[in-house]
Amino acid sequence: MPALVSFDLILLGLKDPGPTGRSRFASLMARLTERDPMEFNDPAAMKGAPLFEAISAQRAREITGLLEEAGILVEIRPVPGRPPSGDREVVATRECPRCGFIQPAGDPECQKCGLIFAKWEREQIQRMQRERQLEETLTKLVQVREEWRAKAKRYLERHPLPDGAVAPFQKRLHHGEIPFARLESAEGPILMTSRRMLVTKGGTTISIPYEIIADVDVGGGLTLKKDLVNLQLKFAGPLPVGQEQLKSLRLQVTKESATMRDVVMDWAFARSFVCGSCGASDMDFRVQRGKVHVRCMHCATDHEVDLEEAVAIPLLSE
Ligand SMILES: [Zn+2]
Ligand SMILES: [Zn+2]
Repeated sequence: MPALVSFDLILLGLKDPGPTGRSRFASLMARLTERDPMEFNDPAAMKGAPLFEAISAQRAREITGLLEEAGILVEIRPVPGRPPSGDREVVATRECPRCGFIQPAGDPECQKCGLIFAKWEREQIQRMQRERQLEETLTKLVQVREEWRAKAKRYLERHPLPDGAVAPFQKRLHHGEIPFARLESAEGPILMTSRRMLVTKGGTTISIPYEIIADVDVGGGLTLKKDLVNLQLKFAGPLPVGQEQLKSLRLQVTKESATMRDVVMDWAFARSFVCGSCGASDMDFRVQRGKVHVRCMHCATDHEVDLEEAVAIPLLSE
């Protein structure tokens, strides 16, 4: 014959309302209810609310004993005429992570602002994964950059730059960027650095990351003067320069500079933008609002290219 009375356990407070007491409360409640301890992280907000509802006399005694040991003060409130049904149930609360509204736990969405909790939690996990991914990408980028700096230093040891070679480019150089070679062209000087080529053309200096150079052509075609040689840089995608989008850039270099074609090819061919998400180097270039974008052909992650920094930054969708 079922009992005709059941009990609610009402939270009165904690003996120790400090962090230790609160954490004991959360972990014991989580154990008793098999729920997430996060649901019990604000006992002050749960004061006066039933922790357990419609439980049997025996269950009430067991639980009260455990709660008392943990310094949790409860009132045992009998409800005559209501048989026990909730020996495993609990009324807990949760705080909306967006608007802060406190409501009974277990609701799928916030009563006040409509946030769907499961969706929010899923997004949090995805955001953390993306942030970790980005961090790994940046760590790799720093390592790679260090290798190219070392390579530039080794080159300089064998071929020191003449005095003043870097002067016209000084303002454009970034911290940690190592200039290591200079070429001369009819259009103006060209500087090769550990990061990119800085090319003077029509009075402006164009930043060309090696990663965007797909091919290098030397010789062929007419030049202004006999002692000049065509050096054509072909790009993997359009390069925005002012209002134009260049697919390639033709420079007329001196014969002496033309002998450095192998150095240009070495740096241009060894490097390509790598996908920040999957590490593939199969990238599709396009220009969007004046900026170079590369999309990974492997996993479709979109990146924005910083032409000054010579990096492709993965764009994390919200
Ligand atoms: Zn809310
Ligand atoms: Zn990818």
